[in-house]
Amino acid sequence: MPPFDPQRIRADFPILDQQINGKPLVYLDNAATSHTPQQVIDASAAYYTKTNSNIHRGAHKLAREATLAHEAARSTISKHLNSKHEHEIIFTSGTTDGINLVSNTLSLSGKITAGDAVIISGLEHHSNIVPWQMLCERTGAELKIIPVLENGTLDIDHYHSLLDERVKIVAVSHVSNALGTINPVHEIIHAAREHGALVLLDGAQAAPHLKIDVQELDCDFYVFSGHKVYGPTGIGVLYGKENILTELPPWRGGGEMIKEVTFKHTTYNDLPFKYEAGTPDIEGAIALAAAIDYMNAIGMENIAAHEHNLQQRATKALMEIEGIRIFGTATEKAAVISFLIGDIHHYDLGTLMDQMGVALRTGHHCCQPLMARFNITGTARASFAAYNTNEEVDIFIEAIKKSARMLS
Ligand SMILES: *Cc1c(COP(=O)(O)O)cnc(C)c1O
Repeated sequence: MPPFDPQRIRADFPILDQQINGKPLVYLDNAATSHTPQQVIDASAAYYTKTNSNIHRGAHKLAREATLAHEAARSTISKHLNSKHEHEIIFTSGTTDGINLVSNTLSLSGKITAGDAVIISGLEHHSNIVPWQMLCERTGAELKIIPVLENGTLDIDHYHSLLDERVKIVAVSHVSNALGTINPVHEIIHAAREHGALVLLDGAQAAPHLKIDVQELDCDFYVFSGHKVYGPTGIGVLYGKENILTELPPWRGGGEMIKEVTFKHTTYNDLPFKYEAGTPDIEGAIALAAAIDYMNAIGMENIAAHEHNLQQRATKALMEIEGIRIFGTATEKAAVISFLIGDIHHYDLGTLMDQMGVALRTGHHCCQPLMARFNITGTARASFAAYNTNEEVDIFIEAIKKSARMLS
């Protein structure tokens, strides 16, 4: 492996080579969606050019090949997450879908009933809030929230005080999408274990930046989305421990998730197919595996170190701007910077930045309760990926300074 070179990585991403409003595109919205390298686009095109066919039970060659490729993708993801078994990897349509699968099967299972409790945190994405609220409405369980401290970290002492035998599951993000905070998931999981609670980690923002080992973490569920790890939209992964997924009931009914169907009674398929009703996103799974291979060829540690440098460079320069407020100043932080300048509206800032070719995200980042915690309606957010460069950070900073001057 040659030394890490963002220019060489950039060359793999055709979408980056374009002008926006007459300026070179500087894409800093990676926490919303990252771009796909040619290797992933090729894997997807090759599937539709040579292999496309419905998987399982096909008597013909293409069906066999599509089945093999789909299951090879599962194997790639299992190795990447270090799951004990390949059948602990369930393909979903994304993080949101994975969390809904877990919350729905848990409520169907009767394992959570009135008087029980679910713990989430104050910095969750709406997709790790609303499914649990819905579960609590259905079951009569109580939703408890780990508060967020001023620096954007979780109040872990308070978390310990929320834990008791009523708590059935703790569902928290591994990394915050709005602030970049890396949560102390080992401590969270260990404490939940001592009270017999399950743990789900929302890994949507961790999977693009960190090496993940589900056995070492010892979480019960881990979810992430393809489109944030250089893969396609519409595909995601749910890891679940074999014994728990085996105990939980199926959720969606249909083809593929069954062993035998009569009008009197249906028996369900084994893992992982029990949770994969209907024709899956075959091409998406194959392209996602190509994206995982792509990240591993660069090396997760190299990606993390490079992004950390970009984040440090940008933070240092932003701090010099008058009236800047950076939200989320944890020492353990992924490559996300959320900020406001004076009383400039985040949307106005984002619009001006777009005119200068710089793509930021503005608004509440699907974290309205977190924004309320800081008494704001939203922030401007820059988020970095392996293909971003120091030069882009400098363009971003110059554009921010110019926008701030124009708007104040
Ligand atoms: C993006 C994101 C989600 C939702 O992912 P989808 O791909 O929209 O399902 C959930 N949690 C976090 C932390 C995210 O960043």
